[in-house]
Amino acid sequence: MAARWRRGTRERRRGRRLGSILLVLLLTGCVAGAGWLFWPTSAPPPETPTGDGADEPVAAAPQYVPSNDPPAAPLAPLPLDETCEGSAPPGAAQANADSLNTMSWAPFGRQEVGWTIYAPRIGAELATACGPGTTRFAAALAGWQAGHRLAPTGVLDGATFDVMKTRWTLARPFAAINARGECPNAPAQSGLSAARSDEVYGSKPAYLRPGALDAYRRLVEAARKDGVVSARDPRVLTIFSSFRDPAADAARCARDNNCQGVSRTICSAHRTGLAIDLFVAAAPGYGPDSSTDDNRRFMARSDVYRWLVVNAGRFGFVNYVFEPWHWEWTGEPPLPGVPISSLPQEGSQPLDQGAPAPQPGQKASPSKTHEVR
Ligand SMILES: [Zn+2]
Repeated sequence: MAARWRRGTRERRRGRRLGSILLVLLLTGCVAGAGWLFWPTSAPPPETPTGDGADEPVAAAPQYVPSNDPPAAPLAPLPLDETCEGSAPPGAAQANADSLNTMSWAPFGRQEVGWTIYAPRIGAELATACGPGTTRFAAALAGWQAGHRLAPTGVLDGATFDVMKTRWTLARPFAAINARGECPNAPAQSGLSAARSDEVYGSKPAYLRPGALDAYRRLVEAARKDGVVSARDPRVLTIFSSFRDPAADAARCARDNNCQGVSRTICSAHRTGLAIDLFVAAAPGYGPDSSTDDNRRFMARSDVYRWLVVNAGRFGFVNYVFEPWHWEWTGEPPLPGVPISSLPQEGSQPLDQGAPAPQPGQKASPSKTHEVR
């Protein structure tokens, strides 16, 4: 057992060394100034998030963020004895390697290119840390497809992703309630627990249901032990949005006649006291909640997101996959709800009910398609 553990540790170290070498090679091939790949040695002052799903970068002139994630690079440190060879349908690994950065599709209603953003979550679903271009990944995907009544091609496509997305949506109690046309009631603020100032991004206080805050703390502790939270960037896993009082959201929404689609939706997951927005990463020039593809890709490449998709479930947290920063605690149910139709609608935009697949012919704008949060 000890030998096995040591071998695994050696392999992981070797994997990390290999990763470091690849990174150095990549960097030497990049233009000068590509130092954004590294965590800042001293954290810049916190930016103020503009609200969930805001498509606007919080600072001007975002820098170019390359989309390349080498297809064979591990999604996470390889577990014991995992090799990235597998018996996959012929050509499947190559097809995945090709589509990783080129597939044109609209998984959440908005046109996207490639699927590097979702690769870590897909890998977690397949229980593999191997890169998307490996035969092990393709073999695992073929097995998953067969188990979900899909053609076992081993190639990621929109239909396969839709089935995964449905599973991920159904794992969110809030989304399931929302999909029935109901909206959970908000708890009284007096029953919520306040996060400590070192747990908060910026200075805005954060409140959560006590069980959710406890679970968050256990998660952070585990992430710290695993080395994905460190003094290198104290912003990592701090909270930038938590409980949001629906009355205040609705009042602001009506006053401005602008609900910003996702951030002030009439029934936000943030009303439950169970939803939490965590600082995962922010590409240069973007806020931690910018849903631009460059920023989400940047987050998806971070150690912490790759750790979260594998480990957060142990602490009861599930992710809204379009937003790497948005997590919901499932350890206690949301409060009983009311019909969404009974809520003030003024200034609001229609809700996506969390339906797994878009309706045929539906032409959805980003503001309408990813707001079950
Ligand atoms: Zn959120």
